[in-house]
Amino acid sequence: MTFQKKFNLPETATESQLKFMKIVLKEIGGDIYNSFPDSLYLARIQLGLKDRFHSFMPCLKCHKLYNKTDMDEIQKNDSIGIIRCSHVEFPNSASRRMKSCQTVLAEREVKKPELIYPFVPIHQQLETLYRQPHFERLLRHWSNRR
Ligand SMILES: [Zn+2]
Repeated sequence: MTFQKKFNLPETATESQLKFMKIVLKEIGGDIYNSFPDSLYLARIQLGLKDRFHSFMPCLKCHKLYNKTDMDEIQKNDSIGIIRCSHVEFPNSASRRMKSCQTVLAEREVKKPELIYPFVPIHQQLETLYRQPHFERLLRHWSNRR
């Protein structure tokens, strides 16, 4: 994975490399390498590397973000088949209280949202930064320079 990242290799090249490594390891070491992954999917599972993105579905008009679980709940309660945005811009205004956005978010038959907003929580982003070599030293680099 480090090799792929360092040389910016495509996934197909890395997968071929994994398959080749498994053949070599099995030739040298025998059956103890049967569990060595021969695909990127299996390698990511064994190494615990997962995409930990949260996906939100934003409204195209008002940009309100909906959780996937919220959308599933709305789908259960909605019998029409089209999921619309329920955001009210001014909920305390007496005249605008009942005006919700009503922009189509997804159609039930298609089950595909109009737009997806991928998001990684801040603690996972920080975890990724701190795993980089010498990251903590680099944080203090500005104070040591001339
Ligand atoms: Zn909306």
